[in-house]
Parts: sequence; structure tokens; C-alpha cells
Amino acid sequence: MSIGKTSVYFVPRVLLVLALVGFPLQSQGVQTQSDRFQLEEATIADVHRAIQTGQLTCRGLVQAYIDRAKAYNGVSDRLVTRDGASIPASPGTVRAGSPLKFPTETVAISTLVPDFDQYAGPPIEFGRMEPTSSDPSVQQQYGMTVGTPNSGQINALGTLNLRGERSVTCKGDRDRRPSDGPLPAGSPAVCEEFRKQPDALERAAEGLQLANFSVFCNHVLTPPAMAEILGSPQTREFDTVPIDGIVGPGHVSCVIGSQPYELAAVKYRRPVVIAGFEPLDVMQSVLMLVNQLNEGRHEVENEYARAVTRGGNAKAQELIADVFELRRSFEWCGLGEIAYSAHKLKPKYERFDAEARYGIAYRQAPDNKACECGAILRGTKKPRECKVFGTVCTPENPLGSCMVSSEGACAAHYAYGRFREIAENTR
Ligand code: SF4
Repeated sequence: MSIGKTSVYFVPRVLLVLALVGFPLQSQGVQTQSDRFQLEEATIADVHRAIQTGQLTCRGLVQAYIDRAKAYNGVSDRLVTRDGASIPASPGTVRAGSPLKFPTETVAISTLVPDFDQYAGPPIEFGRMEPTSSDPSVQQQYGMTVGTPNSGQINALGTLNLRGERSVTCKGDRDRRPSDGPLPAGSPAVCEEFRKQPDALERAAEGLQLANFSVFCNHVLTPPAMAEILGSPQTREFDTVPIDGIVGPGHVSCVIGSQPYELAAVKYRRPVVIAGFEPLDVMQSVLMLVNQLNEGRHEVENEYARAVTRGGNAKAQELIADVFELRRSFEWCGLGEIAYSAHKLKPKYERFDAEARYGIAYRQAPDNKACECGAILRGTKKPRECKVFGTVCTPENPLGSCMVSSEGACAAHYAYGRFREIAENTR
């Protein structure tokens, strides 16, 4: 469960491009600048190594991906129509120097839905070709489409975002680089702004000189929050927080390992079981907790052993230590300030730090007075004990932070506790 504030990333387009085009292309034997680096099946580590040893540049890598994408660039979806009749050929937008060709075969709805003749619902939006509103000579698929198995095509160059081809409105000369002179007469005004944006190759040529990458770092740490709750007077002295054991977080533990919870298990005498995400993982973890309680043990056990080790992911920890440092204090939704419970970027990465770049100052945003989030997150109250749960406060109209995210305690209780129906029936 994530109860920290939201993290926001501004990801440079080229990173998305590389992530998106890196996986589905079939082998064709394309090689990059060196005999040694092979694009097909290259891992991220292979790419890093090739760049570090001078075999490859960022721009060369993107160009290699573009060359491969061109070999397979095309439309693989067919229209779903009432009768499956063929349609005339129609030109699409220009990609890789030539207009996209749309399949002329269509698929009859009855081949996908055999008893379609009994359908009596609202009208179906069948597949059809229509001119784009920006340029009537360019056609586009609309409505229902279906993929073509083994089509050997993947329309990837739209994602690769190449100058001159990336927009129907501002295509060709209307997407000239600003340094190439004025736009042709009659170009829409928006193209003047559009052309200032670099394309994939230009972005790659910038290398690591990223100008548009900012991180608003609100990454929070699980062990300090756990210690805060287990160490609170309500838990330790007044016994008003009935916590018998803890289901430990799977994702977090993949990185930090199970070791950081050992202090909590020993100091606060509560069993901890790191759990996976499948329903059986959760049930097995609860059983392991019950067994510990029945046997009077309070240890850290690892149900998610297929992903989590005691020491965690050393490489990831090394990278985190290089990039982040601890904040002296951080305010958690519903829990208040917890010392050393969150990260911020180290000064050497200040150029990427949104707080420094944009002068973002922390502002406290108090919860609504009716909200019981703090008590719920500490375990002293259940969501339905909040007077406005499911009536005034719902996932569609959240009043407090526990209802905002689908992972929030109140939102999960609402979604999976059959309270949605109750709330809807009492409105
Ligand atoms: S139901 Fe809404 S108002 Fe009540 S505790 Fe949950 S988030 Fe806060």
C-alpha cells in the first residue's frame, strides 16, 4: 500500500521511444556502427557497454532502431465490418518516406461474435476508413479494428516521432527545423510552435544533456513508517492498536531485502512475513503469520522467496545510494511527520530536481476535519467507522487521502468490501 505523496516524473520523449520500440522487432540482421554490437536481442547492459566503449552513440542507436522499424513499418489492424467485404485501398499518413498502406481485407463481425445476429444492444461502431480532419487526402482507421496474426508489420514510426512525418497538420516542410528558415506560406500557426520540438534523432543527439527531465522526488521508505506505527504509545503502551503481525511489501522488499524488517520484529516483537502478489501468496503469508503467533515467534519470514532475498538487490541499492539521500523529515498522509522516512535527490543531481528548478516549497494540506485517515492508517479505526465513508466520501468524490488512490485503505475497503452497493442503495 502506498500512502506517501505522489511522485511525478517528466520523462524525455526519447526514453519512451527506446522503451517502446526496443522489444517487438523481429530479427533482420541489422548491425550498428560496430561489428561487435548487435542490435537484435541487445540488453540494456549491452547498449550501455557499447556506448561506454565508443562503439555506439545515442543517436546511432536511435537511427538503428529507425532502420529496423522501417523494415517492418505498416498497419497490422483490419477493420471489423458487418459483412467482411473488401474496401478500396486508401493512403495513410507518411511514415518512413511513404504513405502507410491499410489492409483492404476486413473481418466480418460474425467471425468474432458468432451469435451476433441475436445482438439487440446499442448500435455497433463498425470499422471504417475516413479522411483525417487535418488533411482529407490522408485516411485513418476509425471504429472497431482487429489485429492480424503474424502480419509482419508494426506501425512503430509514429512512436519514433520523425521530423516531417510526425503530424498530419504540420507534416513535410511545415515541420522544418527553425534554423532552416521560415515555414511555407499558409502553414497553420500551430506549426511554428510544433517545429521547435526536437524529434527522436535530435533528442538522442542531445545525449545526456537532458533539458526537460525533472523529478519531484517524494519517494518514501517503508521501515521508518512501520517503526513509527509499532513504536507509537497507542501500540506499545495503551494497546489501542491491535497489530498482531505485518504482511511485508513485495515490491519494496525486492530492492531492500527482508533484512531491514528484522529490527522491527525483534524490537517490537511482531512477526513479519514478506508477501508476493498472487492471491495464494497473500493467503500463504497470512498462514505463516498465524503459525508464528501460535508458536509464540516474532521473526521475519519471506514468503516471496522467488523474488526477495535477505540482502535485496545490491545493484539497485548502489544506484539509489548514488542518486538519493534521506530527508530529515517528511510528512506522510495521515501519519504526520516521520524522521528520515523519505528520499530527495543528492546535490550533484540538482539540475534534475524539480524542487530546486521550479522553487517548489512544501505546503501543508490539512485533511478534512471529518476525515479519520490517520486513525485508519494506524489501525485504530476501520474505514466504515468514519462517518462519511461511502456517503459523502467515495472514490468518485474523495474527501481524504485514503480514498484518493485505488490502493488507499478506504478506497480498497469501498471497492472490495461490498460497501459500494450499500452506499449506492442508501443514496
Ligand atoms: S472515508 Fe474518506 S473521509 Fe473518511 S477516513 Fe476515509 S478518506 Fe477520510
